[in-house]
Amino acid sequence: MIKKFLSEFRQNLVSGEWVLFSAGRAKGHIAKEKEAFYKPKEGCPFDDPVASRQEIVWGFPDNEKWNMMVIQNKYPAVMPGKADEEATEGLFKIHAAAGNHDIIIFREHDITPYDFSKEQFADAIKVYKRRYKEIYEKDGYAEYILIFHNYGPGAGASIYHPHSQIISFPVLPPDVYGSIYGSFDYYKKHGKKIYDIILEWEIKQAKRIVYENEYFIAFCPFVSKYPYEVRIFPKQSHAHFEVLPDEQDKFLGEAIQDVVGKIGRVLDKPFFNYFIHTAPLKDDLGEHFHDFYCWHLEIVPRLSIEGGVELGTDIHINVVDPDDAAEELRGACLLAC
Ligand SMILES: [Zn+2]
Repeated sequence: MIKKFLSEFRQNLVSGEWVLFSAGRAKGHIAKEKEAFYKPKEGCPFDDPVASRQEIVWGFPDNEKWNMMVIQNKYPAVMPGKADEEATEGLFKIHAAAGNHDIIIFREHDITPYDFSKEQFADAIKVYKRRYKEIYEKDGYAEYILIFHNYGPGAGASIYHPHSQIISFPVLPPDVYGSIYGSFDYYKKHGKKIYDIILEWEIKQAKRIVYENEYFIAFCPFVSKYPYEVRIFPKQSHAHFEVLPDEQDKFLGEAIQDVVGKIGRVLDKPFFNYFIHTAPLKDDLGEHFHDFYCWHLEIVPRLSIEGGVELGTDIHINVVDPDDAAEELRGACLLAC
């Protein structure tokens, strides 16, 4: 049953950001047009990385019989190499955009993330962790490493062949900065990890939970920035994604596959992004991240286009109550299973 949804602002407890939940805006504002995206195998740069002269880092499980392959991005957002210390130009701080930007290719061309098995997602987790640790060790100036996956042009993907990406930055991204400092402040005031408190509340409310297994829980956050956004958290909170015990990879793979499948069934396979938020590489706060931060994975269907309010205020307008989004997503299983 869809209840009455009043317009209200809700504040993100960690970052302090406000989100406007607006029932006044029709759901019709959710864009559902999908551009033609499919490109055939022929001429695909990721189908045979050797033949297409990609800089191969390594294949998983090995270079011959690979299911996934890490290659260097030919058009990296940050150039390979080590960033120097920060510099200034006139009034401004500047920083050489040096780091590491890899593509992580899935073997099969003709599938989308909606077709990935839970084993494929679990393999992806193994590859993400291994490459994360390698970059961490070799790039002494990196402040942050982001792992993400773009599905579709509406989500920033320019090549059809399924692939994730991993990129290191010599600066701390603003989104991460907000969460790190917000959760640190909470810890200083209350002596507790804010993520544990939020998770406890979500579990108690039980309205927005979409999926859970032994080690992970997925829910539509009370302050969802985007319609049908889902976050997956480890039940045993930990600051660092890359140290996730190997035996939990399959549980995380299963969680991602379940949530992606539900989004596909409810929203007719929209383009989407997922990304992992984990602790920064450098601890400038003199406290262990583990005391106050928790890594998580966010899945964001790309349903709406940002307008003047978002650009002008950084306040996002969400037209779907996360309670309803979660209810629909949970129900998706009943329709299909
Ligand atoms: Zn391909």
